[in-house]
Amino acid sequence: MAHPISQGFPLPLPPADPALPLGLYIHIPFCERKCPYCDFNTYAGLQARFTQTVDALCRELEEWAAPLAGRPITSVFVGGGTPTVLDAGELARLFETIRRCYWLAPGCEITCEANPGTVDRPKFHLLRDLGVNRLSLGVQSFQPEELAFLGRIHGVEDVYRAFDAARAAGFANINLDFIFGLPHQAPAAWADTLAQALALGPEHLSLYSLIVEPNTPLRHWVDSGQVDAPDDDEAGALYETALERLAAAGYVHYEVSNWARTTAPPNGDQSDNPTYACRHNLLYWRNQEYLGVGPGAHSHLRLVGPQGETVSRRWSNRKPVPSYAQRVLRGASVVDFSEELAVRVSMGETMMLGLRLVREGVAFARFERQHGADLRQVFADEVARLVAWGLLEEDAARVRLSRRGLMVGNQVFAAFV
Ligand code: SF4
Repeated sequence: MAHPISQGFPLPLPPADPALPLGLYIHIPFCERKCPYCDFNTYAGLQARFTQTVDALCRELEEWAAPLAGRPITSVFVGGGTPTVLDAGELARLFETIRRCYWLAPGCEITCEANPGTVDRPKFHLLRDLGVNRLSLGVQSFQPEELAFLGRIHGVEDVYRAFDAARAAGFANINLDFIFGLPHQAPAAWADTLAQALALGPEHLSLYSLIVEPNTPLRHWVDSGQVDAPDDDEAGALYETALERLAAAGYVHYEVSNWARTTAPPNGDQSDNPTYACRHNLLYWRNQEYLGVGPGAHSHLRLVGPQGETVSRRWSNRKPVPSYAQRVLRGASVVDFSEELAVRVSMGETMMLGLRLVREGVAFARFERQHGADLRQVFADEVARLVAWGLLEEDAARVRLSRRGLMVGNQVFAAFV
């Protein structure tokens, strides 16, 4: 039976294969205040839209339940935006809908993003009660002046309070997000931020360099000369510092921007990645399947083509919150971009994304399972050239970035797309 949310798709889904991992992403498009560097599809001042948007998210989740029946969900990621701006009733409704509509695989990783300025102990207890087993806190810096520059609503003390409250509520898998490469960022300030982060002992760390995105206040400040642009060489040096400090503290660098601890309990991911690697993000990096619900959310699923062949399709939902919610609630499609991926494009994306996994890289066996072709033949020229330049390493099982390749990753990835 056709269902209205996916009516933009002429193709059915293939028979359910419970062995294939499938992630669920839920986009909460709200924040208390918009940070000047952020280009995510998220808005401040829309409190009046919370209820209707949660209604729409629940409806979209319900609509997708039948087509995805029989597919166990291996990870759920509630992100945004700032999911924790929603109140207890709204969060409860969302999680109740997920559990009612989907089969969550045993050990399913359920992540919720939170802003240290929007959480307290009762909210963390609520998230635990709702089944969230991984928390991702947007800390960004331990330097008050950097937090002010980034326009964050929280201070350093809020981070300590939030982290302690999360641990007290029982979170045993916590990620902390940081941003480095701010204009003229002092190396000593970055080293101090890393030291304070490590002292807390989170299971996972994500470190992203500051990017000046189009159509943001930061872009305007840089273009008008109010703020200097971030410097790539300075950011590279700060990244090297992070590589050293985190390795010395026992964190495993498993993705270009991500580190994790390896101590038990195992998260069930059979790979070279550390125990606390983010399973949901591993789906993206392995070019696997995920359904995204919410305004602007992206999805990637394998569907059945006219000759019975499997085709990869990705799509995104319309971004404006009011029209997303109104259309979902009247049963109309919210897809505003959709494309079928040519086989060669999909293979290139598997390389571009998979090479971000600095330990795992792209395994020949996984590539063959996913595309029915031998990576060593499809990309023979590209791999030979990049190995000769010292940017890729190849062994009997995989290709992956060399240390030199890691420092110029974007140039390596571009060779495949
Ligand atoms: S809190 Fe996060 S999602 Fe919200 S505006 Fe700031 S950076 Fe963007």
